[in-house]
Amino acid sequence: MPAGEKQPRRAIKVILAQPRGFCAGVVRAIEIVERALEKYGPPVYVRHEIVHNKFVVDSLKAKGAIFVEELSEVPQGAVTIFSAHGVAKSVVNEAAGRQLPVLDATCPLVTKVHNQGKRYVAQGRVLILVGHAGHPEVEGTLGQIDGPVVLVQSEQDVEALDIPPDTPVAYVTQTTLSVDDTRGIIAALERRYHNIVGPEIRDICYATQNRQSAVRELSHHVDVILVVGAKNSSNSNRLREIGAEAGIPSYLIADGSELAAEWVKDAETIGITAGASAPEVLVEDVINTLRTLGEVEVSTLPGRQEHIEFRLPRELATSRNSWGENATRSCSCWSRCFVATSLALAAARLTIPIRSSTAV
Ligand code: SF4
Repeated sequence: MPAGEKQPRRAIKVILAQPRGFCAGVVRAIEIVERALEKYGPPVYVRHEIVHNKFVVDSLKAKGAIFVEELSEVPQGAVTIFSAHGVAKSVVNEAAGRQLPVLDATCPLVTKVHNQGKRYVAQGRVLILVGHAGHPEVEGTLGQIDGPVVLVQSEQDVEALDIPPDTPVAYVTQTTLSVDDTRGIIAALERRYHNIVGPEIRDICYATQNRQSAVRELSHHVDVILVVGAKNSSNSNRLREIGAEAGIPSYLIADGSELAAEWVKDAETIGITAGASAPEVLVEDVINTLRTLGEVEVSTLPGRQEHIEFRLPRELATSRNSWGENATRSCSCWSRCFVATSLALAAARLTIPIRSSTAV
């Protein structure tokens, strides 16, 4: 190439998984906080991160939400919101004892698992919860069900269970597990217990299953997978694991600033997906970061379209939404509207250099 002539920019193909990002439970939870702020005025108190995403949490903080881990941190009389992950009965009772005005953003699909578990226990069965210790959804489910509930996280845990094989048992699962891992654990339970009932993998919610299928499909077309989501987001971690199990180097990143250039330096085609609590603006942020490395061409895989919406609590169903309109149901374009109403993070990211570290 003659001296002074510019090197042509590298061509990068980006393929987006479909579906990706926000699920109906997350849209509903965020909308509950937004509408509560609008109706009651700031501050409103949210117990635990409303969903596991720092960008979402920071944006709601900027609008006047205050996030706490314990109800004892909520002042008397303050509007209090339970996160999408659900809470134990003790938390509900504590709020009632203090007469806190509560809005419950627990995802209806999590509540369904609570109710299913209660029904099994009422039938006299020992309940086995398949899930990850310490996750707020698991803490909430354990604390919602009176009676014997045993947590298992792996097939090894099933082998170690101290429950006689002729005991009537039932199982329920966390909503955001890996479909494949959970099938293995359920098979191990069915080998040990003959009097066993459960929903198979149907407790793993539609959004988790759809996003996992989509990342499996994505893995057939790409050299690297970037999963946009928070480190503490269970469903996002599962997406990264599924990509890695398919033999594709897969990385979980919060946004474009966490992308390491060497992960993608030899990749012709880069796949991107996002966990159920990650807004589309963060996917766009990652694409913008890739644009600093070359000419990016973006396409989206054909995939399942989702049309599920969950009703808001009655108190908020007719309040004005953040676009100044009376609304009675969730808006499925929320993640895009969020771009306009939240911090201008995506634009700011363009000035942040890409890290060179290889750490995930
Ligand atoms: S991932 Fe599933 S269970 Fe969790 S909030 Fe979304 S829809 Fe509800």
